[in-house]
Amino acid sequence: MPSEFTGKHVTVAGLGVSGVPAAKVLHGLGAHVTVVNDGTDERARAQAAELESLGVTVRLGDGDTLPEGTELIVTAPGWKPTKPLFTAAGQAGVPVWGDVELAWRLRGLDGRKAAPWLAVTGTNGKTTTVQMLASILKAAGLRTAAVGNIGVSLLDAVTGEEEYDVLAVELSSYQLHWAPSLRAHSAAVLNLAPDHLDWHGSMDAYAADKGRIYEGNRVACVYNADATGKPSTEDLVRAADVEEGCRAIGFTLGTPGPSQLGVVEGLLVDRAFVEDRQKNAQELAEVSDVDPPAPHNIANALAAAGLARAFGVSAAAVRDGLRAFTPDAHRIAHVADVDGVAYVDDSKATNTHATEASLAAYESIVWIAGGLAKGATFDELVAGAAKRLRGAVLIGADRALIREALARHAPEVPVVDLDRTDTGAMLQAVQEARRLARPGDTVLLAPACASMDMFTNYNQRGDAFAQAVRELGA
Ligand code: ADP
Repeated sequence: MPSEFTGKHVTVAGLGVSGVPAAKVLHGLGAHVTVVNDGTDERARAQAAELESLGVTVRLGDGDTLPEGTELIVTAPGWKPTKPLFTAAGQAGVPVWGDVELAWRLRGLDGRKAAPWLAVTGTNGKTTTVQMLASILKAAGLRTAAVGNIGVSLLDAVTGEEEYDVLAVELSSYQLHWAPSLRAHSAAVLNLAPDHLDWHGSMDAYAADKGRIYEGNRVACVYNADATGKPSTEDLVRAADVEEGCRAIGFTLGTPGPSQLGVVEGLLVDRAFVEDRQKNAQELAEVSDVDPPAPHNIANALAAAGLARAFGVSAAAVRDGLRAFTPDAHRIAHVADVDGVAYVDDSKATNTHATEASLAAYESIVWIAGGLAKGATFDELVAGAAKRLRGAVLIGADRALIREALARHAPEVPVVDLDRTDTGAMLQAVQEARRLARPGDTVLLAPACASMDMFTNYNQRGDAFAQAVRELGA
C-alpha cells in the first residue's frame, strides 16, 4: 500500500539497534533509503552487507555528509544535535526524526489499531516503572507490552503483527529530543538529576527534552511531588502544552493531597482518580506488594499506578500487577544472606543519583563502589550516606575520587581500596566487605560508576558479585 514514505529519499543516520530496523521498515514502505554511519568496524560492515542485499544504500565511514536529495533524516537517538549532518539538514530545511518519532508516525499503518502510549522518562527508574506498568495493564486484561530499551522495540510494537490495546513506553532524553510530534495519552517524569549534560549542553536543555514527554498529553501528566531540584518535574508539567482537561497528578512518598497518589500507613493510596477527591481516597496496594520495597521503588510503583489509573485501570489490577512484577536482574537484587548479612546487587546503579536511592534503602551498609566515574563527583552522595556506612570497599579506575570524598565527609568509615582489576577482584571485594560487615548489615554493590573498566557491562559486574557471594556461602 502506498504511504507517505513511498518514493521519498530518507537518510538513516547510524546503523545499530535502531538504525537497521528503521532502514528495513522504510525500505519496505517504498522509500529510497541511504544509511550513513561513522564507523567501519566488522559489525558495521556485516550490517551494511545485509542492508545492501535488500537494496538499501549504505555509506560507511562518513556520518557527516548529507546525501544529495535527502528529504528526511531518521537518526539513531544517541547522535549529538551538534553533528555537522544536522547542521547541514537545518540549512537545507530537512526534518530530523529519531526512532521514536518514526514509530509514532507509523502507528496505525495499514489499518492496524494505533494503541495509545503511556510514556515514562526520568534519570533513573524508567525500565522498572515501565515493566511495573505493563504488569498492571496485563493484570487489567489489556493487551500490552513494555517497550523501549528493553524487551519489544518500539518499531516492532507499532509495525508487527501483534495488536495492542495500550503500550507502556520507556523514553530516554535523547529519544525525546528527536520526537517532536509525539503525543502520549499520559506520561510520567520520575525524577531529574544531572545526566548526559555533555550531549544536551546544559541541565535546562536536558530537562526541556525530558519535559517534551508531557507535550500534548490527553489525560494525565504524572510528576514527582517530592522532587526538590530545579526545574522540578512539576515545573515541566506547567511548561507543557497539553490537551484541554488533561490533569497534573503528583506522586509522593508522604500522605497524598487531592490529585495525588501517595503512601498512608503502609498502603499505596490514590487521591486522584476517585470520586470527590477532596474527601475520598482509594487503597491500591500494600507497600509490601512492591518488590523491592525501597523508597525509590515505591515511588516508581506510584508513578506506574498513576499512569494505569489515568488509563482507567481498577485498584485491584494495580495491586495484582504490582504483586506479579519481579524486577530485572541487578536492580537491588537480594543475592543471599550469609552469617546474618544481606548481600544486594544493584550493579545497575551506574550513576550517583541511582546509588543515592540505593543507599537510602538500607540502615547499615558495607558499600562496594567504583568504576568509571564519567565526570561525576561524589561529595554529596557520600555526605548524605555517611551515617549509614559501616565501611566501604572501592574498586575500579576512578575509585580515588570516592576515596577522597569518603575522607572528606566520612573520615571515620573504614575503607578498603583494591587496585586489582583482574577477574578475582570482585571476589576479594566481597571478602573484604564480609570482614567489615556485622550481622544485620547489608553489603551493597551500588557502584555509582560505569563498569567498562573492569567488566563488559553492568550485568557481568553484577554476576561476578553474585558468584563471589555464592563462594562465600559455600
Ligand atoms: P533506567 O531504565 O532509568 O536506567 P532502571 O529501572 O533500570 O532505570 O534502574 C536503574 C538504576 O536506578 C537502578 O540501580 C535502580 O536501583 C535505580 N533506581 C530505580 N528507580 C529509581 C528512582 N526512582 N530514583 C532513583 N534511582 C532509581
